[in-house]
Amino acid sequence: MPEVPPIFHSLEKDEPFSHCITCEKALHELSVPYTVSKVFKGPECVFEYAMCQPCRLEMSQSFSEESRKKIDDFFNQKVNLADRSLAMEGSEHHTDWMKSCLTCGTPANEVRDYSVACMAFSDTLVFDPFPMMVCSPCEQKIQKQLSKETKDQWDKFVANNFEGPPADALDPTRGVPVLV
Ligand SMILES: [Zn+2]
Ligand SMILES: [Zn+2]
Repeated sequence: MPEVPPIFHSLEKDEPFSHCITCEKALHELSVPYTVSKVFKGPECVFEYAMCQPCRLEMSQSFSEESRKKIDDFFNQKVNLADRSLAMEGSEHHTDWMKSCLTCGTPANEVRDYSVACMAFSDTLVFDPFPMMVCSPCEQKIQKQLSKETKDQWDKFVANNFEGPPADALDPTRGVPVLV
């Protein structure tokens, strides 16, 4: 199994993520996987975090049921994960899984702003359906459908987990990440 590649390392620390952003447990000591999410604006990473699976579930459950259904419906309509899995033929190279937007299929080299996410266990990548990439226009389409309650919940998460004024770190047109 390949190691977590540099694109999923912490830009801030210049090394692999070591702790869950929410519960602050050491990722390498967990008996469960974790995800790394990153938002890129052009070549620049503007937002990043790693989160253990229990915290990720908890966050997702804090979103409104209606919003969760909207996100699920969007992905179900746009992508057939079983077909994608077959097409990958068990590839263990992360770039194969991120070569186009998961939901609209635009090739990565034609995408400017995007989010990527991977799943990892200790220091190795866990494949299928991760890693994945979603372009910014697709994210915005999903976000438009989310409830105010869910957006408020996300803002609260950012305020609780990130230092400094979120406006400095975040593009206000972004918001709830869809690759959680
Ligand atoms: Zn955690
Ligand atoms: Zn897209």
